[in-house]
Amino acid sequence: MGKLAINGGNKAVQINSGDTFTWPIVTKEDEQSILDILWARNMSGTDITRKFEEEFASWHGLKYALGHSTGTAALHAAMFGSNVGVGDEIICQSMTYWATGLPAYSLGATVVFAEIDPKTLTIDPNDIEHRITKRTKAIIPVHYCGYPSDMDPIMEIANRHGIKVIEDVSHAHGALYKGRLVGTIGHAAGMSLMSGKAFACGEAGILITNDQYIHEKAITIGHYERTGELTIPELKHTSGVPQGGYKYRMHQMSSAMARVQLKYYKERMEEIQKAMNYFWDLLEGVPGIRPHRPSRESGSTMGGWYAAKGLYVPEELDGLPVSKFCKAVTAEGASTYPGANILLHLHPVFNDVDIYGHGKPTRIANSDRDLRQPKGSLPVTEAQPERMYSIPWFKHYRPEVIKQYALAFRKVAENSGELM
Ligand SMILES: *Cc1c(COP(=O)(O)O)cnc(C)c1O
Repeated sequence: MGKLAINGGNKAVQINSGDTFTWPIVTKEDEQSILDILWARNMSGTDITRKFEEEFASWHGLKYALGHSTGTAALHAAMFGSNVGVGDEIICQSMTYWATGLPAYSLGATVVFAEIDPKTLTIDPNDIEHRITKRTKAIIPVHYCGYPSDMDPIMEIANRHGIKVIEDVSHAHGALYKGRLVGTIGHAAGMSLMSGKAFACGEAGILITNDQYIHEKAITIGHYERTGELTIPELKHTSGVPQGGYKYRMHQMSSAMARVQLKYYKERMEEIQKAMNYFWDLLEGVPGIRPHRPSRESGSTMGGWYAAKGLYVPEELDGLPVSKFCKAVTAEGASTYPGANILLHLHPVFNDVDIYGHGKPTRIANSDRDLRQPKGSLPVTEAQPERMYSIPWFKHYRPEVIKQYALAFRKVAENSGELM
């Protein structure tokens, strides 16, 4: 009988984790805020949403916030606001949720994928510039699994070329990049607030910016009820009808809950950070596994550690495949899986599907050239699913629980010979 649970040994995790992983934290205050909307029959208004927008913008020190029905809608509106249109291109990473890039297709634009940095899993600033053409309108960095994208070089490149940067903050609410809140560094930011995310209030999203044009043009795509408030002359004619043909306003039950969640987000996020950093501190020096987090000295943080990952170095474990590693850790009582989001540059919807009836794949129809990036075209990105795995997402700092979960990873890494 081996030591590892998968070979009949005792499990590393014996403790009852209670509500360590429960998210979002819901209290009577959340419940009451939603009931208030219900009894006022105020689900479709904007008064509560506007209060949330003010509070969210003020947290970020920005002028504008626009609540949306989803994060996908917020990103779509941010692209439209940045004048992404027919024949244009946006640049983003391939390993991300599809909404980082796919909304560009419905604006008549297409997506060019850049490599990621294998340590941060965010877009590699050194792989952006050679992909910029006269059609490039925006770079959309995603602070992937909480890790802030390297915004300084990205902004430098974008500003030199006169293109917009839209941050996708869906994984990183409240994270800092060199001391600055993510979402405040680009020209605009869009993010999800859906129930699974670190900032969670139901199905919702938000667009934040200091740029009045982006804000007002975003209103014109999907917020008919606000078109009367437009001040920029060339946008004013849309009054009463959203030119994009979408209806994107935020549900007020979500807005009400979001206001309550916002009150407590900072302190809850700090507890998550303490717990997650403790987990990684316990695993320092263990072969084969590395934290996916910025160094303390960098001034950067992981926000609420959404979809937290660890990096995997199979060379240090005699080439043990990550899938076997994950099965063994899961058997120890710490559920984990390899990889992350599917790679968009290899997906048929991005490459082969004729979505709008052009008679050819949308990716080609929306451009004057064939931008498809076949297997092998992004070698760093394509290697990463074998070099990463999920880690537990602790919502509370409970050393006794965290120690056992860390032990599960340590035990498998240190006894990987049993799996060969
Ligand atoms: C969740 C997510 C979105 C989309 O948000 P929804 O609210 O689900 O529409 C966009 N980008 C990333 C990276 C996400 O994880």
